[in-house]
Amino acid sequence: MLRLKSCLCVGLGLFFLASCSTAKKTTVLQSPQTAVINPAKVVEETKVIIDSVPVGSQLANQAARVAGALDSVPLTPEEQARLIYNSGIHKEYDYAQAMHFDWRKPQYVMIHHTSQSSTAQTIRTFQLPHTKVSSHYVIGRDGRVVQMLNDYIRAWHAGRGKWGQITDMNSISLGIELDNNGREPFPEAQINSLLILLDTLKTRYNIPQINFIGHSDFAPGRKDDPSVFFPWDKLAARGFGIWYNESYLLPAPATFNPIDALKLIGYDMKNQEAAIRAFKKKYVKTDLTGQLTDRDKAIIYDLYRKYY
Ligand SMILES: [Zn+2]
Repeated sequence: MLRLKSCLCVGLGLFFLASCSTAKKTTVLQSPQTAVINPAKVVEETKVIIDSVPVGSQLANQAARVAGALDSVPLTPEEQARLIYNSGIHKEYDYAQAMHFDWRKPQYVMIHHTSQSSTAQTIRTFQLPHTKVSSHYVIGRDGRVVQMLNDYIRAWHAGRGKWGQITDMNSISLGIELDNNGREPFPEAQINSLLILLDTLKTRYNIPQINFIGHSDFAPGRKDDPSVFFPWDKLAARGFGIWYNESYLLPAPATFNPIDALKLIGYDMKNQEAAIRAFKKKYVKTDLTGQLTDRDKAIIYDLYRKYY
């Protein structure tokens, strides 16, 4: 058995590198004159791999634990890495490991507020087995940032929802929870830490400005965080998310269709009123009805012209 280190990222990497396949299944698809892969070498190398792939009862044990049969003994990151790796290989096909790859990177950032009363309480929530929720980062009112999951791991923060054509937001996003009960402003220290973190994430993963969104954008009607106190204007000024020109709004032309524009921005218009309310809670804040006023339409028109 390979002895993998505790870091899941390293574990995943080592495992991925080491465990292409078994000697039995490996088939080199290139023609013999292709110099890229030497069949003998590949087969020989895969002999090492056989020991690293969980087989038989070991794999069955892990599967049972994943299914919850042995919930009291949580999977180690290494076991999870092995299960994920195995489930990503289609055993009905031949397999020839390509040599160039890296890891899929997050392309969205979703902001939440915790609706809890302290960072410690949120951390506890994310560490209890029955809650089934998590996020990558928690930021306290004092600006302290606690990372709770590796950026490359899929956190359970977004849940059901739709943004554009994306339904599985957890698979492509990072979740950031701000310690806030939903009825209070966000302290400056907390927002400053958030801005620094967002800057790091945006640069490292090349995340587009429009892909910094709130939970309520993705799940209107079901989620309402972050609250109306959240300073989206301040974030947009730094390149995270979008905001309109408050000092000069052009009236939307008669031919402009604000519903289509909201759809283009990303909102799921299946429940039109809920989507409009989510939009207004973010951009208008004072009027949270499900109808669009002329000013609301002008805001949508401005966003549409600026970003889309
Ligand atoms: Zn949320």
